[in-house]
Amino acid sequence: MAKDKRVLILGGIGDSLKLTALASTIPGLEVINSLAGRTRQPIITSTPTRIGGFGGVSGLTDYLREQKIDLLIDVTHPFASKISWNAAIATSQLNIPRLMLVRPAWKKIEGDRWLEVKSNEVAAKVLPELGSRIFLSIGRQELGSYAHLKHIWFLIRALDIPQPDSLVPPGKILTERGPFSLEEEQSLLQKYEIEAIVSKNSGGDATYAKIIAAGELGIPVVMIQRPSLPEGEQVSDVKSAVSWIRNYSD
Ligand code: NAP
Repeated sequence: MAKDKRVLILGGIGDSLKLTALASTIPGLEVINSLAGRTRQPIITSTPTRIGGFGGVSGLTDYLREQKIDLLIDVTHPFASKISWNAAIATSQLNIPRLMLVRPAWKKIEGDRWLEVKSNEVAAKVLPELGSRIFLSIGRQELGSYAHLKHIWFLIRALDIPQPDSLVPPGKILTERGPFSLEEEQSLLQKYEIEAIVSKNSGGDATYAKIIAAGELGIPVVMIQRPSLPEGEQVSDVKSAVSWIRNYSD
C-alpha cells in the first residue's frame, strides 16, 4: 500500500461486520465503522466504531473532512436509502471514492405467492383480503403503518421492542435476531396459524428461510420492494468489496 488510508464503513447489517473484520487485516488501512444507533444491543467489534447520525449531508461532509477519510463503503441495509443518498452527495462533494455493497434482492421462484408492493402503506391496504393472522417481519420502525388494522392479529418480529411512544398494531411481539432455520420458520408459521407474511425484500440468507417456508406452505408473501439507491460503484458481496479496497490502496 502506498500510504496509510482511512476507510469509513457505514454499517448496520451482518455484511458490514464481515467486511470490517476482513478490511481490518489489510496492512496500512485504518478502518472506522459507523452505526446509526438504532438497536439497543449492537454487535460491537474491536474495530473503532462511532455510533449515531452525522447530522445530514453537511454533518457527514464535515466528518469525512475532519477525519481525513480516504474511502467510504456503504454497507447499510438496502432499505436504509437516506444515509446512502447522503453518502453519495457528501463523497461526491469531497471527491472521495465510494462503494456500495448491495446484496442481491430475493427473486420469486416456482411455488412462491408474492404480492409485490411499493411501501408499507400499500401492504397495509392489501392485508385485509389476505387473512386475519399476519406475520409482520419488517423490523420495528414502520409498524405504525399497520396500527389502524384492528381486526388483524399480527405476529411481529424485530430485534428490539418498539419505542414506548410508537404506534403498534395488535398482536404478539417476538424480539429475535436471525439467522433463522427453515424448520424454525415453518413451525413458527404453523404454530401461529399465519395466513400471510409481510416482508421487505432485504435479500441475503439470514432471513430468507421464512420466504422458503411460506412458499412450501402455500402462504402468500406481501413483498415490499426496495427504494431507489444512488448511482455509483456497486458490488454484491464482501469479497468484492475487499478487492475494491485493495485496488484503491495499492
Ligand atoms: P436511513 O433511513 O437511511 O437513515 C436515517 C438516518 O440515520 C440517516 O440520515 C443518518 O442520520 C442515520 N444513519 C443511518 N445509517 C447510519 C450509519 N450506518 N451510521 C451513522 N448514521 C446512520 O436508515 P434506517 O432505515 O433508519 O436504518 C438505520 C440503520 O439500521 C442503518 O445503518 C441500516 O443499515 C440498519 N438497518 C436498517 C434496516 C431497514 O429496514 N431500514 C434493516 C436492518 C438494518 P444523519 O442524517 O443524522 O446522518
